[in-house]
Amino acid sequence: MLDTLAIRTRRTTASRLATRDEAPLEFGKLFSDHMFVVDYRDGEWQDAQIMPFGDMPVSPANSALHYGQAIFEGMKAYPTDGGGVALFRPLDNWARLNASAERMCMPAIPEELFMQGLKELVRLDAPWVPSVPGGALYIRPFMFATDGMLGVRPSDTYRFAVITCPVDLYYTKPLRVRFEQKYVRSAEGGAGFAKNAGNYGAAMYPTKLAQEEGYNQLIWTDASEHQYVEESGTMNIAFVIDGKLVTPALSTSILDGITRRSVLQLAHDLGVPVEERRVSSREIIAALEAGTLHEAFGVGTAATIAPIATIGYEGHDYELPAAAPDALSKRIGAALGAIRTGQAPDPHGWVVPVGE
Ligand SMILES: *Cc1c(COP(=O)(O)O)cnc(C)c1O
Repeated sequence: MLDTLAIRTRRTTASRLATRDEAPLEFGKLFSDHMFVVDYRDGEWQDAQIMPFGDMPVSPANSALHYGQAIFEGMKAYPTDGGGVALFRPLDNWARLNASAERMCMPAIPEELFMQGLKELVRLDAPWVPSVPGGALYIRPFMFATDGMLGVRPSDTYRFAVITCPVDLYYTKPLRVRFEQKYVRSAEGGAGFAKNAGNYGAAMYPTKLAQEEGYNQLIWTDASEHQYVEESGTMNIAFVIDGKLVTPALSTSILDGITRRSVLQLAHDLGVPVEERRVSSREIIAALEAGTLHEAFGVGTAATIAPIATIGYEGHDYELPAAAPDALSKRIGAALGAIRTGQAPDPHGWVVPVGE
């Protein structure tokens, strides 16, 4: 076991760190100096290495390109008050990656390999972690099939890699979203709970149509009745109705977000009633009309909490009240931020320092 965990490191001789502060960071465009790579062949993970970030040669018959055997994760490392860097709930990402892998007939990554590769990579590129308030290192672990073979069957070989990008405080104007009642992101029994590449490609067209109508994002509804709320883009969704935090219950068609989990836990800690259940678009519109829908927001790693200002339904736009300073979304966002950066105690054991 120790052999497979020896991670070879080849450091860059041409750091690009100085380019980080030249302009505001656009999400996902600038990558840190190094990446972690490990290959699966002959039934085991081997040749774990950290190397300079760069292109990877693949066969034109690579089965990830043809049949979409590709999965990913999204997580962040935060600068902590003590001058260190910490990961937020990395074991949850590890477990979810393996759940996605199982759904896509891909091999599981052992916990030690995932954690050690991640920690060594983030330690090495720690100078890339922005120290500006709200800044973080966005981390993208991913796995793809590497067989060069056109047969439609699970690949025998895979690559797992981790790349990282420095990101600024994620600020979005409150979102305009609309219920999607024609197209489907995923269906019960499908792969919507998995972070597999194909889910995202198929969502681009309906999202583009909504953007052409002036919305930022869709609220997906269930595939059979187009009535029940699922999630929004790459975020889960939550509502504050009559003082309760209400969010769609998980199913095979909804991604089990780690931010969602954290937000529900913190709401519970604040003594706010939490309901995970079916939520229909009609219920949301009725609550808007009755004035009992106080807040709606997306929750995900990129933005943490993205308030929603407008909800479109059957051709009509409904406006939400502007979030008050004591809005639940703001209190929870602040609590989460304080835990991540070590400014507040971490009662749930979510924060994992990468070490010196
Ligand atoms: C990644 C993702 C989320 C949010 O998950 P987090 O773990 O909170 O970042 C929600 N929905 C979809 C479809 C996603 O891909």
